[in-house]
Amino acid sequence: MKYCPDCGAEYQPEAVTCADCGSTLGDKPKPVSPDEPRVAVFRSGDPQCADRVATVILHELEAVATSRTGISFPTPATTGAGGAVVAVPASQYGRALQLLHEAIDDGALDPEEGDVVEGE
Ligand SMILES: [Zn+2]
Repeated sequence: MKYCPDCGAEYQPEAVTCADCGSTLGDKPKPVSPDEPRVAVFRSGDPQCADRVATVILHELEAVATSRTGISFPTPATTGAGGAVVAVPASQYGRALQLLHEAIDDGALDPEEGDVVEGE
Protein backbone atom coordinates (compact mmCIF):
# COMPACT_ATOMS: atom_id res chain seq x y z
CA MET A 1 0.00 0.00 0.00
CA LYS A 2 1.12 3.56 -0.75
CA TYR A 3 -0.09 6.62 1.08
CA CYS A 4 -0.33 10.29 0.25
CA PRO A 5 1.65 12.31 2.80
CA ASP A 6 -0.68 15.29 2.36
CA CYS A 7 -4.24 14.01 2.26
CA GLY A 8 -3.74 10.51 3.62
CA ALA A 9 -5.37 8.72 0.67
CA GLU A 10 -4.44 5.07 0.11
CA TYR A 11 -3.22 3.77 -3.23
CA GLN A 12 -2.17 0.53 -4.82
CA PRO A 13 1.58 -0.24 -4.45
CA GLU A 14 2.29 0.66 -8.09
CA ALA A 15 0.88 4.19 -7.77
CA VAL A 16 3.41 7.01 -7.71
CA THR A 17 1.57 10.27 -7.17
CA CYS A 18 -1.67 11.22 -5.49
CA ALA A 19 -4.56 11.73 -7.91
CA ASP A 20 -6.01 14.44 -5.69
CA CYS A 21 -3.05 16.57 -4.72
CA GLY A 22 -0.22 15.35 -6.95
CA SER A 23 2.12 14.63 -4.04
CA THR A 24 4.65 11.82 -4.28
CA LEU A 25 3.30 8.83 -2.39
CA GLY A 26 5.15 7.25 0.50
CA ASP A 27 5.10 3.86 2.21
CA LYS A 28 3.81 5.04 5.55
CA PRO A 29 0.29 6.24 6.35
CA LYS A 30 -0.11 9.87 7.17
CA PRO A 31 0.47 10.33 10.89
CA VAL A 32 -2.65 11.12 12.83
CA SER A 33 -2.72 14.69 14.01
CA PRO A 34 -2.89 15.03 17.79
CA ASP A 35 -5.62 17.58 17.20
CA GLU A 36 -7.84 15.18 15.30
CA PRO A 37 -11.08 14.56 17.15
CA ARG A 38 -11.47 11.15 18.68
CA VAL A 39 -14.70 9.25 18.32
CA ALA A 40 -15.96 6.40 20.46
CA VAL A 41 -16.26 3.04 18.68
CA PHE A 42 -16.76 0.68 21.57
CA ARG A 43 -17.88 0.87 25.15
CA SER A 44 -17.94 -1.63 27.91
CA GLY A 45 -18.74 -1.83 31.58
CA ASP A 46 -15.39 -3.52 32.01
CA PRO A 47 -12.30 -1.32 31.61
CA GLN A 48 -10.14 -4.41 31.05
CA CYS A 49 -12.32 -5.44 28.15
CA ALA A 50 -12.04 -1.94 26.66
CA ASP A 51 -8.30 -2.12 27.10
CA ARG A 52 -8.13 -5.45 25.30
CA VAL A 53 -10.24 -4.12 22.43
CA ALA A 54 -7.92 -1.13 22.05
CA THR A 55 -4.65 -3.05 22.26
CA VAL A 56 -5.54 -6.35 20.60
CA ILE A 57 -8.39 -5.79 18.16
CA LEU A 58 -7.71 -2.19 17.17
CA HIS A 59 -3.94 -2.34 17.61
CA GLU A 60 -3.27 -1.13 14.06
CA LEU A 61 -5.28 2.02 14.70
CA GLU A 62 -4.44 4.68 17.22
CA ALA A 63 -7.09 3.43 19.57
CA VAL A 64 -7.25 4.63 23.14
CA ALA A 65 -9.19 3.03 25.95
CA THR A 66 -10.41 5.60 28.41
CA SER A 67 -12.15 4.87 31.64
CA ARG A 68 -15.31 6.75 32.42
CA THR A 69 -13.52 8.91 34.95
CA GLY A 70 -10.82 10.13 32.58
CA ILE A 71 -12.43 10.83 29.26
CA SER A 72 -10.19 13.21 27.41
CA PHE A 73 -11.63 13.38 23.92
CA PRO A 74 -14.27 15.84 22.82
CA THR A 75 -17.00 13.41 21.86
CA PRO A 76 -19.37 12.97 24.77
CA ALA A 77 -19.55 9.31 25.66
CA THR A 78 -22.74 7.86 26.95
CA THR A 79 -21.40 5.05 29.07
CA GLY A 80 -22.99 4.11 32.29
CA ALA A 81 -21.15 4.62 35.55
CA GLY A 82 -17.88 2.78 35.79
CA GLY A 83 -17.69 1.97 32.12
CA ALA A 84 -14.89 2.47 29.69
CA VAL A 85 -14.78 3.76 26.14
CA VAL A 86 -12.49 2.95 23.25
CA ALA A 87 -11.95 5.90 20.94
CA VAL A 88 -10.08 6.26 17.66
CA PRO A 89 -9.23 9.27 15.49
CA ALA A 90 -12.29 10.26 13.44
CA SER A 91 -10.62 9.25 10.15
CA GLN A 92 -10.16 5.70 11.45
CA TYR A 93 -13.72 5.19 12.63
CA GLY A 94 -14.90 3.20 9.61
CA ARG A 95 -11.90 0.90 9.75
CA ALA A 96 -12.38 0.44 13.50
CA LEU A 97 -16.01 -0.61 13.01
CA GLN A 98 -14.93 -3.12 10.39
CA LEU A 99 -12.29 -4.61 12.71
CA LEU A 100 -14.76 -4.84 15.59
CA HIS A 101 -17.34 -6.63 13.47
CA GLU A 102 -14.69 -9.02 12.16
CA ALA A 103 -13.62 -9.73 15.75
CA ILE A 104 -17.21 -10.49 16.74
CA ASP A 105 -17.73 -12.68 13.68
CA ASP A 106 -14.69 -14.81 14.36
CA GLY A 107 -15.28 -15.03 18.10
CA ALA A 108 -12.37 -12.85 19.24
CA LEU A 109 -14.82 -10.45 20.84
CA ASP A 110 -17.92 -11.48 22.75
CA PRO A 111 -20.78 -9.07 21.95
CA GLU A 112 -21.91 -9.52 25.56
CA GLU A 113 -18.77 -7.75 26.73
CA GLY A 114 -19.67 -4.36 25.40
CA ASP A 115 -21.32 -2.32 22.68
CA VAL A 116 -20.03 -1.27 19.31
CA VAL A 117 -20.85 2.42 18.95
CA GLU A 118 -22.40 3.07 15.56
CA GLY A 119 -23.91 6.15 14.03
CA GLU A 120 -23.74 8.44 17.04
ZN1 LIG B 1 -3.16 13.42 -1.70
